Order: sequence, then C-alpha cells, then structure tokens
Amino acid sequence: MDIAFHRAGPIKKKDEVGDRVQKLFQDFLAECINDEGVLKYLQFVKDLSNPERNTLHVSFEDVNRFNQRLATTIKEEYYRVYPYICRAVHSFMAEKTIYDPTKELYVGFCDIPTREKIRELIASKIGTLLRISGQVVRTHPVHPELVSGTFTCLDCQTVIKDVEQQFRYTLPTICRNEICDNRTRFRLDVDKSRFVDFQRVRIQETQAELPRGSIPRSVEVILRAEAVEMAQPGDKVDFIGTLIVVPDVSQLSVSATTPFDCSSVFDFGSDVLVRKTEMWAIHVISKRTIYSSTYFAKNVSRQQGCFHGRA
Ligand SMILES: [Zn+2]
Repeated sequence: MDIAFHRAGPIKKKDEVGDRVQKLFQDFLAECINDEGVLKYLQFVKDLSNPERNTLHVSFEDVNRFNQRLATTIKEEYYRVYPYICRAVHSFMAEKTIYDPTKELYVGFCDIPTREKIRELIASKIGTLLRISGQVVRTHPVHPELVSGTFTCLDCQTVIKDVEQQFRYTLPTICRNEICDNRTRFRLDVDKSRFVDFQRVRIQETQAELPRGSIPRSVEVILRAEAVEMAQPGDKVDFIGTLIVVPDVSQLSVSATTPFDCSSVFDFGSDVLVRKTEMWAIHVISKRTIYSSTYFAKNVSRQQGCFHGRA
C-alpha cells in the first residue's frame, strides 16, 4: 500500500444515509423527464463542462415528485447530505458526458414552497434546507476560497493532496511520509489546490414583514460558486441554502504560521441567533462546507421556476 495513503489520517466514517441519497439522486438525474419526454437534467449537466459553469440548478418539486422520501431527507438533513448530492452529479456527468474529476460541482435547489422569516431562524433549523428572503444592505468583494489544498512538505518534499479546509486555513496534521515528523512546515501549492468564488452579503428584513415598532434584523449570507456577484444593495432577494454556525476562528488553535492568509475569508460575523448556539453547533457542523446559498433569485415577487442565468 502507498505509504502516503496509509498516513492519510483517520478513516472517515461511512454515512449510509449519505450513500443512499447519492444513489437516489443519481437515479433522479437519470430518470427525470420533462414534458417532451426527454431527460430534463442531461443538457444542464452537459453545460457544466463549460469552464464558466459549476452549479446544477435543480427544482425541488421535481425531486419531490420523483421520490418524496428523498426530498424529505434532503430538506431535513441538507447539510449532511449535500456533499453526496454533489457527488451524484459527478457520477452522472462521468457516465454521460465530458467530465473533469478535479472540477468542483455544486447543486442549487429552487422551487422551495415555504419561506422562513429572518427573525424565525432558530437553532432547530440549522442544517436544514431553507428559503429566506430579504433586502440586500451590504455586499462584500468576491474572494477565492480554498476548498481543498495540496501541500508540499518543506522537510522532505512529499506532496500531500486533498487537505480539506475546515472553516480556517487547515494544514496537514502531519507529513504523510512515515520517516518524516514534520507537522508545521508546509507550502500550499496554489496551482494544484481547488478554490471556489466566495462572497458575503448582508440582508435585512423588509418593511413589509417587520412587526410594528421592531428594529429590522439582519443576517449574513455566504454565497458561493455561481451565486456570487448577483446581489446588489437594495435588491429584494430569495436565498435557498442552510443556516450554519461558524466557529469563532480565534478560539481554534492555530498550529503554524500561515504562509497563505485565508483569515479574511473565514473571518465573518454571524447574527445574534447564531452566536448563541455557537459552541453546541461546532460539534455538529465541523466540515469545511461553509457555503450558505448556491441559489439566488432576484425580485422575490416575480420569481418563477428556476433561475439559470446571471443578473
Ligand atoms: Zn515530510
């Protein structure tokens, strides 16, 4: 066995729910047909081979019609199963069209019938699939966010691939070369690492949904992939994604001087509701996937069906 592989760290636990969702979602892509009797998502998946594209927009209604239990699991366990849904797109694409295994692919759902109010975002909704809306009050510049890093050990030059990033700049815990004990001296290979476009925006309750005499509440929204650069201050928008809890980065131990500063990317505020449950949620949500929304629709009142284009 490859030594590097042997030292790859603890074996990740198998998630049977995730595996089942992956299989069913791939079946869904392979079977969902439109009114003309053609595979509805095949062309959209083929379009993902375009370098500009990385997000497959899927109607949640279609998933619900295909398999209600699958839809319920996605809705209730969205954060948990999201990586498996994206893997299903990878497998489907590999079977049907030109495919680049190194490309990051995302799924953005639309047609979510219910809408949550910003002030009703409570801890029990963390990790579930939600649709929220509000008025954009602030947008931040788009940054590349490191998704998965490739590092070179500065002591023995071993290359360590696929280091998943977990809310902050994450180095390999130890060099994968068994005779090397380096735990701190690594160089990020930018060309061999994977990044995604990332943007923060702040949205606020609209006057219409504000209870009398209340001060509007706001929430920070993290946009990724094709959803970036679409919101402008003043826009009334719909976001579909999940409520997440971001650990207080300053509380996490920093194991080394970082040669590549990602702190600005990860250092964002979250609203008060989220902060209250911070400690609890770190245990539940510890994966690097801190996207909040991969779907964006402008002008809530006029929204119809899927939104595929750019604003
Ligand atoms: Zn080494």
